[in-house]
Amino acid sequence: MTWAKKLVKSYRVEGGRFRRKDFDPGDTGELKSKEQAAELLAKGSARMAELQDKLYAQDRWALLLIFQAMDAGGKDGAIKHVMSGVNPQGCQVYSFKAPSSEELDHDYLWRTSRCLPERGRIGIFNRSYYEEVLVVRVHPNILANERVPPSLITKNIWKERFHDIRAFEDYLSRNGVVVRKFFLNVSKKEQKRRFLSRLDEPEKNWKFSAADVKERESWDDYMEAYEEMISHTATPQSPWLVVPADNKWYTRVVVSAAIVDALEDLNLDYPVVDAQKRRELLAAKRKLEKEA
Ligand code: ATP
Ligand code: MG
Repeated sequence: MTWAKKLVKSYRVEGGRFRRKDFDPGDTGELKSKEQAAELLAKGSARMAELQDKLYAQDRWALLLIFQAMDAGGKDGAIKHVMSGVNPQGCQVYSFKAPSSEELDHDYLWRTSRCLPERGRIGIFNRSYYEEVLVVRVHPNILANERVPPSLITKNIWKERFHDIRAFEDYLSRNGVVVRKFFLNVSKKEQKRRFLSRLDEPEKNWKFSAADVKERESWDDYMEAYEEMISHTATPQSPWLVVPADNKWYTRVVVSAAIVDALEDLNLDYPVVDAQKRRELLAAKRKLEKEA
């Protein structure tokens, strides 16, 4: 087993009932220090850069990384640090906030479908269609404003949405879009600490939003929604990674390892040059060498 696979093994959920209490937000695995984590992150970045280069050259597979977390869970920081070593040309990041009126005029997968990664690319969703079974579930008034015909909103709506999302992700997998979903699992206590530091440190003030403190009041409802969501949408092809998120340095190592692991599973390699192409290369070389 590769180092990356070994590191992410216990955070990978690919079916069955998911219970948050079985996952410790403060876990740091076998790592003892930030320095050790920095070394591993550097190793992960170097490997990711190599694999991404092949992914791009081969132009067959795409990788879709979905990030979900409570506010201050560390999505932005994880995306920034983990992807810092990869070629920006091969990577696309999209953030999904409350939908616009144009977006509400369509089915809920529409806005994300338009942002799916092309073959050869890594696509990142900072929030996603999973909000449709999280914030929308926690606040029923949002659903009421979505313009779905009322007769279609029944007590089965969440089961139906899980079913549709699973089917959508199966469809993506069968088209060569590999999906990995990250739940950055931060504790309620650590969220409070991060909010307080946003209030206390002037350079972090801009990150603070009073709405985040309001959402915190629904913490338990969110946790229940996350448990249901992960239990119903984790599959072997499109697993969830429940990433310990109380220590940012560890979160980033796990995310990086999970991406490396997903890419390694594809057995990527540079396209093989056939005989015809080799003749062309040779001819081009001769021509260049003949120049004075
Ligand atoms: P940050 O706060 O770090 O800038 P963020 O992802 O929290 O990043 P915000 O603009 O604060 O960005 O929040 C986006 C909000 O949009 C979240 O509260 C999220 O729940 C909400 N949202 C996302 N998708 C939907 C959706 N489909 N329906 C309703 N609300 C949504
Ligand atoms: Mg926010």
